[in-house]
Amino acid sequence: MLHIILGGAPGSGKGTLSEIIVNKYGLQHLSTGDVLRAEIASGSPLGKEIDALISKGNLVPDQQMIQLLESYLDNLSPDCKGVIFDGFPRTVEQARALTIMLAKRHMEAYMLDLYAEEDVIMARLIHRGKTSGRADDNYDTIKNRLRIYNEMTKPISDYYLKLHRYFMINSNINPECTFSQIDVILSGLYK
Ligand code: ATP
Ligand code: MG
Repeated sequence: MLHIILGGAPGSGKGTLSEIIVNKYGLQHLSTGDVLRAEIASGSPLGKEIDALISKGNLVPDQQMIQLLESYLDNLSPDCKGVIFDGFPRTVEQARALTIMLAKRHMEAYMLDLYAEEDVIMARLIHRGKTSGRADDNYDTIKNRLRIYNEMTKPISDYYLKLHRYFMINSNINPECTFSQIDVILSGLYK
């Protein structure tokens, strides 16, 4: 089974592109942000802990996220073509754990890294914040998420580059332009 890791900063277009990819390639979509927000919405004690982290733009601890992925992979149907991982891995530790989890299950993954300039990202997220209702779509929290992205998440690009499993995608213009680049790659990978 071949999976796609959709990387990139907050606001780089991971959610939007995931939807377009799912429609054409029939992959399954896992947004760890959506899973965590569902836990918060359930009102559970765990959800309250997660809320305190996410609403400030901080990351959920690696061990918790790795466990979430492990049980997701265990519950995958065997006829699944592949998964789009949107929001995971977010640290090098998560990336290393994913490599091991996939190897154990005879699975593999390529990273598609969505790149957009910081002013483009800021404008998109501020705009989304007007309607998204997300506690983390406000100026100060976005700044913190970008800082954490640069510090903790960006190094995973290098990790996948060194594994020769890396594609850089320009996501500055619009979803159609971004998808046309992804389409060329996926049509090669999912023959
Ligand atoms: P966008 O949806 O615009 O790409 P984003 O990547 O910041 O923005 P989500 O992926 O929805 O948003 O994640 C929201 C928050 O959930 C993150 O800021 C973080 O607190 C938490 N989160 C999601 N995935 C992980 C992960 N793999 N490790 C740690 N925290 C995570
Ligand atoms: Mg998202």
